[in-house]
Amino acid sequence: MDSVELYRQLLGLTAPWTVERVELDMVKQHVEVHVRHASGQRFGCPECGRELGVYDHVAERVWRHLDSCQFLTYLHAKPPRVSCPDHGVHQVMLPWAHAGSRFTNLFEALAIDVLLAANVKRAAAILRITWDEAWHLMERAVLRGRAAKGDGIPRQIGVDEKAIAKGHRYMTLVCDLNEATVEYIGEDRKEASLAAYFDAFPQESREQIEAISLDMWPAYINACRDKVPGADGKMVFDRFHIMRHVVDAVDKVRKQEHKALMQAGDTTLTKSKYLWLTNPANMTDQAKERFDELKTAKLKTGRAWALKEALRELWGYKSAAWARKFWERWYFWATHSRLAPMIAAAKLIARHLPNVLTYFAHRITNAVAEGLNSKIATVQKRACGYRNPNHFKIAVYFHCGGLNLYPASVTHTRAG
Ligand SMILES: [Zn+2]
Repeated sequence: MDSVELYRQLLGLTAPWTVERVELDMVKQHVEVHVRHASGQRFGCPECGRELGVYDHVAERVWRHLDSCQFLTYLHAKPPRVSCPDHGVHQVMLPWAHAGSRFTNLFEALAIDVLLAANVKRAAAILRITWDEAWHLMERAVLRGRAAKGDGIPRQIGVDEKAIAKGHRYMTLVCDLNEATVEYIGEDRKEASLAAYFDAFPQESREQIEAISLDMWPAYINACRDKVPGADGKMVFDRFHIMRHVVDAVDKVRKQEHKALMQAGDTTLTKSKYLWLTNPANMTDQAKERFDELKTAKLKTGRAWALKEALRELWGYKSAAWARKFWERWYFWATHSRLAPMIAAAKLIARHLPNVLTYFAHRITNAVAEGLNSKIATVQKRACGYRNPNHFKIAVYFHCGGLNLYPASVTHTRAG
């Protein structure tokens, strides 16, 4: 077999495309594969598929292909154009690469596998491409994958905010709670940040949403009410977010009490912050011993902590009716605690109670989104934080989007 035939087979080229010649550059360690099509060949219009004669050729283009034994391998061809009576002059589709790509599909598929397994810098080094080319490749893969998703909307979604990099720049994340994928990343955490996600879908699709897990955050609530038909029956205020408000209230009580005690020279609460935040089941014996003492020390912080622990039971009820009865008892206890932060937290939850109790109809939480958050944190760590928000979005979609990232023709090869 000569090298022309070998490369024709390696490239999987079929008629009308064939390898014209192969050049080996020993100095640069390059293999240059020149490809051409048979003369008199007809090609389909890329818009409508109508078979047409060649109108002209554009200048020669070059695509990076899979290496041949450490030699960087490039494919050269002059893409033909056709002149369609309905769609005008267009370049025809090429079997080895997508329009606009500088890589063949097979190279892109390998690059995607490497980029999924390593950080961008390392992947670029392995693939012998630049950092910019690596990002561009990821971006194209993400755009392709997202375009292939179509109009379908997840039935159960989770909405969460995410701080990126330093300086508290926020993003809004929408997750598919069933697939555990990031569906959307919006700039900021405003009403418009979330509204833009819904706006990408027609009204009929938005009606299909069954439940939305979110924090008691007015901007998100407004976006849901404005864009999702029947939102009031679908929004569920996430239990983990609710508990976080109460945990924060316990910490405020501790800080205030600690300050007051210290003024009297009492160090009882010194270095106790994490004891009140940690699940006793996860404490060391030593920590547990000190925590047991603190709990029985008639501290305000102890009372706040007991209130917080009791509230967890709310989500254990089988029905909304029983949960509501429990809530009324808890609310009375909290609002009579004379602990201002606990009273504020209780009133915040009370104002949002109808959509706390929708939990018993839908039984969703943002736990999936929280799991994705840790996956995102790993993606962030691997890139040493993202100063460029566009890179952050691309990386999250790439690793957490559940997308089919591969070029279509490669996917078919694999599936077959
Ligand atoms: Zn056409």
